[in-house]
Amino acid sequence: MQPPAYFSSFNMTILVICRMINLSLTRGAASTSAQGLVLLGYVIGPAFGRYEDGYHIARLASDLASERNGPVDKARVNHLTGLAAAWTEPLPVVLDWLRAAFRGGVQAGDLYYACFEAAVIVLHVFLSGQKLEDVDHECKRALDFARDTGFQAGMDLVIATERAVASLRGRTRGLSEYSDETFDAGAFEANLARSQNSVVMWWYWTRKTMVHFLAGEYEAALAAADKVQSHFSIRNMQIEQMDCFYYAGLSLAALIDEAPVAERGAMHAKLASRHAQLRAWAEETGSPTFADKHLLVAAEIARVDGQDLKAQRLYEESIRLAKENGFLHNEAVSNEMASRFYARQNFERISLMYLREARLCYLRWGAHAKVTQMEAAYPQLREEQPVALSTGTTFAPVEQLELATVIKVVQTVSGEIVLDKLVDALMRMAIEHAGAGRAVLVLSQVAGTHIEAEAEMTGHGVVVRLRENLNSTSAALPDAIVQHVLGTKETVILENALLTSPFSTDPYILDRHVRSLLALPLINQGKLIGLLYLENNLAANVFTPSQIAILKLIASHAAVALENTRLYRDLAEREARIRRLVDANIIGVFMWRFDGLIFEANDSFLDMLGFDRDDLAAGRVYWTDLSPPEGWENDARMVAEVKATGIAPPWEKEFFHKDGRRVPVLLGAATFGDPESDGGVTFILDLTARKQAEEAARASDRRYRDLQSELAHASRVATVGQLSAAISHELRQPLVGVVTSASAGLNWLSAGPPNIPAVRRALERAMSEGHRAAEVLDRTRALVTKMPPRNDLVDVNAIVSDTVALVREQLVLNEVSLELRLDKTLSRVLADRVQLQQVILNLMLNAIDAMAGVNSRPRELKIVSGRESPHVVYVAVQDTGPGVPSGLEEKLFDAFYSTKPDGMGMGLAISKTIIESHGGSLGTTRNEPQGAIFSFSLPIDAPEPPS
Ligand code: ADP
Repeated sequence: MQPPAYFSSFNMTILVICRMINLSLTRGAASTSAQGLVLLGYVIGPAFGRYEDGYHIARLASDLASERNGPVDKARVNHLTGLAAAWTEPLPVVLDWLRAAFRGGVQAGDLYYACFEAAVIVLHVFLSGQKLEDVDHECKRALDFARDTGFQAGMDLVIATERAVASLRGRTRGLSEYSDETFDAGAFEANLARSQNSVVMWWYWTRKTMVHFLAGEYEAALAAADKVQSHFSIRNMQIEQMDCFYYAGLSLAALIDEAPVAERGAMHAKLASRHAQLRAWAEETGSPTFADKHLLVAAEIARVDGQDLKAQRLYEESIRLAKENGFLHNEAVSNEMASRFYARQNFERISLMYLREARLCYLRWGAHAKVTQMEAAYPQLREEQPVALSTGTTFAPVEQLELATVIKVVQTVSGEIVLDKLVDALMRMAIEHAGAGRAVLVLSQVAGTHIEAEAEMTGHGVVVRLRENLNSTSAALPDAIVQHVLGTKETVILENALLTSPFSTDPYILDRHVRSLLALPLINQGKLIGLLYLENNLAANVFTPSQIAILKLIASHAAVALENTRLYRDLAEREARIRRLVDANIIGVFMWRFDGLIFEANDSFLDMLGFDRDDLAAGRVYWTDLSPPEGWENDARMVAEVKATGIAPPWEKEFFHKDGRRVPVLLGAATFGDPESDGGVTFILDLTARKQAEEAARASDRRYRDLQSELAHASRVATVGQLSAAISHELRQPLVGVVTSASAGLNWLSAGPPNIPAVRRALERAMSEGHRAAEVLDRTRALVTKMPPRNDLVDVNAIVSDTVALVREQLVLNEVSLELRLDKTLSRVLADRVQLQQVILNLMLNAIDAMAGVNSRPRELKIVSGRESPHVVYVAVQDTGPGVPSGLEEKLFDAFYSTKPDGMGMGLAISKTIIESHGGSLGTTRNEPQGAIFSFSLPIDAPEPPS
């Protein structure tokens, strides 16, 4: 009863199958039991979603059959086991079962059956994405077999697939046209309609749905799909039906945009239901066969719904999965759909890249008719330009670069400003795309080169260790190669490192048996910033040209990104340093125009010369007016110098105070960085006290000598110039960006035809760089205009913890361990949070600096808070450094006292001022057995700080 049931009613089929099983269970296994069992395995997937169990039961049936049944039964059992396997297993596994069934049919002399099986094989070979030429070959064999047997229905079944292959290969009258000299599609279809052979109908119209879709005939594709649908007499029992849902879904999505608004709702609902089935298959079976199809239709739905980001991700995923599972034709379709998506968004270049990839997949698949159609529609596809890499070398043609990888590289690299995360992502990409066993990132800085990160391929995937977690073995690298790359900026590629000289005798290579090796310089704007080293110890010739091309792309992007993140970090550090200095108001700062107008200044500067904010606001303070005539000549030289170089070395001069007296000052100036800028910033130090001291000192030789040495110290004020340089440096970056973007814009404009979207992008970039420059300016102004101190009830412990977070990186870099012993019961104190943070930060940085030279004992930083008395809290910062030499305990707190080559000697002076303004005190004592303690105390009820 089973075969007639199969062709008439799904429920009836199941009923018959269950009856067979029940009889076997109650009466014992008969020769037909294996048939019943395999049918159960075959239906419980589609009927109850139990696809895994289905394959399991089917295999049980085939075991049973090989024990008890003859070849006829065995063939049938194998056939159905193959169909059950198709839901959950990769198609090659399925094909093994089907071919076994074919052989069984031939062996048993059941030629009709074998014909049928041959057609089933042809279909599954096609679905698995094999080259069309191979499928064609398979088709011809099956057709010959069926013809010899004289089994018309068997031939028709093969023809359903064979014609699709012929039309895709360009052997028929058109891409979606099956007719040629030997075949009359009209007659075939009329015959088919008469015969009502449902299996042939499904296969034939499903393939037609596909070719119409590929030809861009979406209405025809949907009409074909409807024919499949109207002949479904059992529920979705074969995986081949997924193509009907897939191509009909894609056709609907393609039509929806142009459809009249009134129809869109219904179309959307149909699309959603097509997708729901694909998705259910994908999720219920877990099989790779459905995954990319489901995701592509999902991507199209996201596109229709305007969820662009989601669509982008889904296209990518779908492409990746199609590729991973060898579905070349689906990979082509996914790329084509992604290309259309980006074209709709006006991302022409991205769209073109996907289109190229699509063309390449179709080409590899063998769909020449489709390729010809694409080339006619997009003539630009024919020019296969090699891609120019930023190193200036042309390398692999674009087809060899994996598109998905290129995009991933660009996205990862441009989205990351946190150095560690960037490095981690880069290392993973490098390993993944090179098939390397180990990768090492070496960065070179002024201080020398160091290993920034190491990545290794392990049994558990890629493991990345960043600089703080590196151990001594990770430091190992073939020295000669590293030196060669650093010295020559050339890439070293060794296809078989053990054989090739001149590096083959490198102890490292011999030791580790390195086979393939690649060392790429990282170059940003011509400057070498490091190198990326990759090796594989298992095989030679691992790095193919296309991988090297990708790696070069990764390397060049990495160079830019690494430099940017480093600049970003330096900038933040520099800004903090300037802020500390300016906030303390120990140094005067003013901003000026070349005509002499001072348009912004901090309190310290105003106090120095007796001006107030109203004078500034009125725009009447000109530094040129404030300068006595005998200094004019020198001033002019300095201004010329600033104009020419952007910066002037510190020089001494005098200013008139508002009350007429002269104030001796030391100053350093810099412009805002661009050659056209009409102003700059000056840092200025009042030398009055020092000059008076100098006068007085002449009276006493000894004191004079002391002071001389102190004055020598003041030469450190050269740092004033550095500060100015820092600000101008900050501005130079965005301004260079503006110029570069603008000139890129000009280039795009003069391209023929002008590339307007690219011009727009360049202008937008210029604009955002401009805004960045403006922000730097605002920030510098904010630094100069001192904010009045804020008094809040603050939690000293919380400030300590916040500050620790700021120096975490330095602690790690300097291998300093940290211990916090904070008294949780501490009351809050009335204070300026920012200022307290500055003090704690200063003390911690000093402690870290002090321990830098310590190698013989652990470097330990300990921060203790507690109560000195019921109304006074204290914070002590303890280190294990060299300590403070006796006699110097007071001197350290003087401004400009520093023992560090690049120190400013301002930290402790500023800190002391801050603590005293809060009514507290700051001092230092010895730490036992080694080191220094810097501690401050603060009254819980702090007095009003002096204004
Ligand atoms: P700078 O750090 O720019 O030198 P500071 O005013 O912060 O300026 O420090 C002045 C000097 O005090 C330092 O150069 C150093 O000699 C000394 N000093 C500061 N902190 C410590 C410490 N924890 N241990 C030993 N010496 C210290």
